[in-house]
Amino acid sequence: MTITKKDAIKLDNEDTLAKFKDEFYIKEDRYYMDGNSLGLLSKRAEKALQTSLEDWKEHGIDGWMDGVEPWFYYSEKLGARTAPLVGAKKEEVIVTGSITTNLHQLISTFYQPEGKRTKILADELTFPSDIYAIQSQLELKGYVHEEHLVQVKSRDGYTLMEEDIIEAMKEDIALILLPSVLYRSGQLLDMKRLTEEAHKRGIIIGFDLAHSIGALPHQLHDHGVDFAVWCNYKYLNSGPGGVGGLYVHERHFGKKPGLAGWFGSRKDKQFDMEHVLTAAESAGAFQIGTPHILSSAPLMGSLELFEEAGIHELRRKSLSLTRFMMELLNQELPEAGFTICNPLEDERRGGHISLKHDEAARICKALKEQGVTPDFRAPNVIRLAPVALYSSYVDVWDTIRILKGIMENEEYKKFENTRNVVA
Ligand SMILES: *Cc1c(COP(=O)(O)O)cnc(C)c1O
Repeated sequence: MTITKKDAIKLDNEDTLAKFKDEFYIKEDRYYMDGNSLGLLSKRAEKALQTSLEDWKEHGIDGWMDGVEPWFYYSEKLGARTAPLVGAKKEEVIVTGSITTNLHQLISTFYQPEGKRTKILADELTFPSDIYAIQSQLELKGYVHEEHLVQVKSRDGYTLMEEDIIEAMKEDIALILLPSVLYRSGQLLDMKRLTEEAHKRGIIIGFDLAHSIGALPHQLHDHGVDFAVWCNYKYLNSGPGGVGGLYVHERHFGKKPGLAGWFGSRKDKQFDMEHVLTAAESAGAFQIGTPHILSSAPLMGSLELFEEAGIHELRRKSLSLTRFMMELLNQELPEAGFTICNPLEDERRGGHISLKHDEAARICKALKEQGVTPDFRAPNVIRLAPVALYSSYVDVWDTIRILKGIMENEEYKKFENTRNVVA
């Protein structure tokens, strides 16, 4: 049966989450499909930032303990409110740092090479910054990363097989770092199974949740995951460079932070100003310096929307949006040279669609010119993320209609097939 625009309108009318679109600043006649790179600004996030500015205006230094949202407990409060999104206890989560700095912190904490166990296992499709962090952590411990970083190979260049990862969990592996959702293909890995297999072999395992937090539910604590990191500026809409987050399982509380700083102190001890650190008995121990309040504040407002909508409902809609998008692609653009390289099954798919095409770079430029914001990942992938909080089914319909026009009329040909500086 052919899908029509009427079907999209009907789906929007039945969508119980449709009302959340009004919470965001969305440009008229623009289709924002890049919320997996930088989420849009919501009115709540803007208000929360204004609150912190007002607290500063009113209280100066006393804003640390006074004001509407005292800054001294800000990161802990945000951690507790993020915990349900990652399936953790509230003390297991802290909002601090960025993905890359948190990786440095947690690898330096958990990577303790001993005897034959000296290697770190990752994969060949991982985001470069994660790999750079691993390489430098290996070198800081005196190892050559060419020998001590093991990267699981992909069979198809886009996805990973859990069997291959498990196969690579050899006796010389000390620590594993994997993405929850792969940034290019949008594949969701089986975190439960991988964690169980790692632990059977006595290996510490951590995940980078950059492309899953805010898009789908997690069960880090119940699965026994050792640690995790993420950013808050993608699906969680906390703004450019917004402060990130980390999780450490409670069984590791009391472990000495690899990178210590005074904000990792027990709160009541911090201002004793002693030269011996009394670390917090929580994920808070892995903070380093003074929290970046103005870059954390938008998250305080943004999280309200997730609390109101519910992450399970958001996941249901996200899967429905991406499924609808794939159906439309198959219907409208069967011969246009696109290959869908994200997994098709719901339980193996994250929040975005990943399309391979030889002309991907300039198709993205044509899309942008015609009101669609996609993103391009070198060498040949277009990512499209209809976001459950603020994308509608009609947005998806219009996006595919615009893409169809670009392909039929070869409108991409007026652009060069190269990436921009920020792609
Ligand atoms: C977005 C992203 C990053 C970016 O790291 P920052 O330190 O926040 O700049 C790192 N890793 C992955 C997998 C990402 O998707």
